[in-house]
Amino acid sequence: MTVAYLGLGANLGDARQTLKDAVVCLAQQHTIAVLAKSSLYRTAPIDAGGDDYLNCVVKLDTTLPVRHLLALCHKIEHHFGRERPFRNAPRTLDLDILLYGEQSIEEPDLIVPHPRLVERAFALVPLIEIAPQLVIPQHGRADAFLAAVADQRIEKMKNPCQCSMLGASADKGERL
Ligand code: ADP
Ligand code: MG
Repeated sequence: MTVAYLGLGANLGDARQTLKDAVVCLAQQHTIAVLAKSSLYRTAPIDAGGDDYLNCVVKLDTTLPVRHLLALCHKIEHHFGRERPFRNAPRTLDLDILLYGEQSIEEPDLIVPHPRLVERAFALVPLIEIAPQLVIPQHGRADAFLAAVADQRIEKMKNPCQCSMLGASADKGERL
């Protein structure tokens, strides 16, 4: 089993519902256990036009080798209508592998830790929410990079459900 972190983002269609459904889809895989999910964040698009994004990060335990996990991410993106008309185009769903265990991978189509993880508040802030002490291979403590992304607009969204049971589970780290 390997602990991995995925970054999810969407800014086309019903982004909130898509992110929720995508996490359910991951949790339904017999090869994956979803250990934690961050809050949803509203974030400004970077190097792109279009609407604001919704983003979150999930922590997984998985038996999938990293290439199979990437293929699954692509399959789920496709299922939710992902199209790639041009670079950084608005998207119904983006699923990126932020971290896969302690591994460092540098191949043409797969770079882990994700190359923009420490430069993007939309990945770093939700990641640190669910893993405050995290050390990123080759980079060091994740929270050391927060100052460098402080100028990027990001807003934690209130949970629409005010149910007290959900609040209690959120206090335990939003385990599913
Ligand atoms: P973006 O870079 O905006 O997420 P895409 O989702 O279209 O754009 O991804 C482009 C390519 O990035 C994918 O086809 C994938 O092979 C490659 N890639 C490299 N490293 C990663 C990673 N860690 N997670 C997901 N995709 C990755
Ligand atoms: Mg992607």
